[in-house]
Amino acid sequence: MFVLSQNHKSFKDGFYYSCDWLEHGLVFFPSKLTMCCFTGKGENSHTLIQDNFYGDDFNIDRINKIREKFRYFHKKGKIHVNCLNCPNLKLEAWDERNYIDSLYISHWTDCNNKCSYCFIAQNPDKFSKKHYSVINIIKKLVKDGVLKRNSKILFGGGEPALLDEFPDIINFLLGEGFQNIRVHSSGIKYIKELEQGLKEGKIHLTISVDSGSDETYKKIKNTDLYSVVRDNIKKYAQNKMPNNEANVSAKYIIIPNVNDSKEELEKWLLANLEAGLNYTILDIEENWFLKNKKNIDLHIIDLLKYVKHRSIELGTHFELYERIEHLLD
Ligand code: SF4
Ligand code: SF4
Repeated sequence: MFVLSQNHKSFKDGFYYSCDWLEHGLVFFPSKLTMCCFTGKGENSHTLIQDNFYGDDFNIDRINKIREKFRYFHKKGKIHVNCLNCPNLKLEAWDERNYIDSLYISHWTDCNNKCSYCFIAQNPDKFSKKHYSVINIIKKLVKDGVLKRNSKILFGGGEPALLDEFPDIINFLLGEGFQNIRVHSSGIKYIKELEQGLKEGKIHLTISVDSGSDETYKKIKNTDLYSVVRDNIKKYAQNKMPNNEANVSAKYIIIPNVNDSKEELEKWLLANLEAGLNYTILDIEENWFLKNKKNIDLHIIDLLKYVKHRSIELGTHFELYERIEHLLD
């Protein structure tokens, strides 16, 4: 549904409100295809392309038609209800040619962790066990020139180490010259196939640890595997890029009242330093963030600033993740 939005009227010829995902994005989710993995006003609802999708009736013309419908309405200032309030909407002269340059692969749910904030882990029955395969779709998109080689490719999940076709997809993408691949993993099972891409700087691996100690890890993840994950992070970090940096990060999702202390964050920062990491990545727990995003506690803002300051002191690249990327602007 599209609604007229006074804030999204364009008064400039050729310009309209849209976003990179709406124009050129595609997401494989369990049993559905969408344009992005973000949720605007609709919160748990995405910009849907096709529901009940199980891999066998992929039709790029149909996807293009849906994208064109979005463009048609957005040019009139009528914004899709799920995009309203989304910070990714921008007024630009968009490239309206139909191609994909942002692909999010997140169609499976198997995982070896049980994070307290994970909707999949807490609601396993809500997800279909019927998994589909994406590799042949990806191969065809590349062959037909639809999926550009300069695309950003993101793996969500589920845990990639448990996805049967993960090694084949990674090897195919690297063989085809893709250079901007981001993999999210629990870090519990080491994935050897990532090593070459890490060394070449074509893969960035993000492991969410959310803690700097065994006790906090166990409280959040419901598994007693902090030291296993930390050992794997160190092993991954040995695959340095030519500039001698490790393209690996140990992400920390701040969960208010659980791991929101400077002491825990400091332990995490020092463990990252010991592992030889060059990135410091922070996020905030999604449910809390959606409820509080208009009025974030000063305590949380102070923590973000503290970590940013420490990251500069330690010489690491500081990054606020996805939904909070503009929070300190
Ligand atoms: S919800 Fe946001 S990111 Fe997704 S298509 Fe709409 S504007 Fe883009
Ligand atoms: S590692 Fe990811 S998929 Fe697995 S339980 Fe945690 S948040 Fe969920």
